[in-house]
Amino acid sequence: MNATAITVPQADPGAGYRAQKAEIDAAVARALASGWYILGKEGEAFEKEYAAWQGAGRAAGAREIRAIGCANGTDALTLAMRGLGIGPGATVVTVSHTAVATVAAIEMVGATPLLLDIDPDTYTMDPDELAAVLDDPPPGLPPIRAVIPVHIYGQACDLAPILAACAKHGVAVIEDCSQAHGATIGGAKVGNLGRVACYSLYPTKNLGALGDGGILATPDPELAGRIAAIRQYGWKRRYISDLQGVNSRLDEVQAAILRVKLQHLDRQNDRRRQIAAAYDKALSGSRSLTAPVRRAHAHHVFHLYVLRHPRRDEFMMSLKAHGIGTGIHYPMPVHTQPAYEGRVALGPANCAETGRAAQEVFSLPMYPELSDEAVARVCDALATL
Ligand SMILES: *Cc1c(COP(=O)(O)O)cnc(C)c1O
Repeated sequence: MNATAITVPQADPGAGYRAQKAEIDAAVARALASGWYILGKEGEAFEKEYAAWQGAGRAAGAREIRAIGCANGTDALTLAMRGLGIGPGATVVTVSHTAVATVAAIEMVGATPLLLDIDPDTYTMDPDELAAVLDDPPPGLPPIRAVIPVHIYGQACDLAPILAACAKHGVAVIEDCSQAHGATIGGAKVGNLGRVACYSLYPTKNLGALGDGGILATPDPELAGRIAAIRQYGWKRRYISDLQGVNSRLDEVQAAILRVKLQHLDRQNDRRRQIAAAYDKALSGSRSLTAPVRRAHAHHVFHLYVLRHPRRDEFMMSLKAHGIGTGIHYPMPVHTQPAYEGRVALGPANCAETGRAAQEVFSLPMYPELSDEAVARVCDALATL
């Protein structure tokens, strides 16, 4: 065995804890000492602070955003669909190039997923294919009731045509913002454009708990009230279920930690962009590597810095020999994974670009605590390979 030690990992959630250790330890101690561990003051304060962050910068008079914490990002998506009354007898459209959670959530509520292809430059939902399936739905599927665009790797989808096509057909837009906390498009923050936004707060996400967490945001007070009830047994009053509910709560310790981390999010997103700019520069002379494309009039928050290489696996091994960790997001399109293969419906493009991307993409080290020295080492390795 002569395995090279990885000295620059692809992600390092522990570094996020160490960077704010004193503040986080104090927040955890406060939550523990309170004697109240589920849906209390910390959770309420985090929801208010998150809603204020989500709604910041919107036009005066815009409807107030309400945020609802829950157990994880997968549940945020299921709560959004349950809140909208989407379940058996509905088709929900999303992409195959996503965390499997997006598709799993659709099946968790009993709806039927229909998976579309991506634009190969930005890896996000192809709006033309969406317009085509809404105008002319594939036969044999229940009616399309919702679309879940996924803002992947930190970059917003091409939302304007997606929103227009959905509005034309009266279909709800549920934004999966799990990889894009703080990304913007056309001056608007993602999560402010659809009916409801869903966020994972998994430890490696741009805003990450030190455990599981999720949150939803919506300007629709009635929908917010339904979702808040459904996440706790359908209770509007204690012990009385007015709706069919589930249990998906964010605990007080995680909420206290997330309140600390939220204060650092915008600055950390700037640091991610700075690291991305350094990688871009190092790649500018490369003929075989394709750097991430930035959508115009948008703000990319680099949850991941994803490259393409025609011989990706070899290239990753070479980086590993330099002690540099990489990842693949994602190695297998959802529709080709054993649990889904031959069983989920695809759009007319047959996910051809999704299949190509899965063979060529890989992710460089990306987290806000990455030092300038570590970034320089990655850049040097990219320049020599
Ligand atoms: C992480 C992620 C999820 C799932 O979140 P969990 O908190 O792990 O349940 C859903 N969608 C996308 C795009 C994600 O990246």
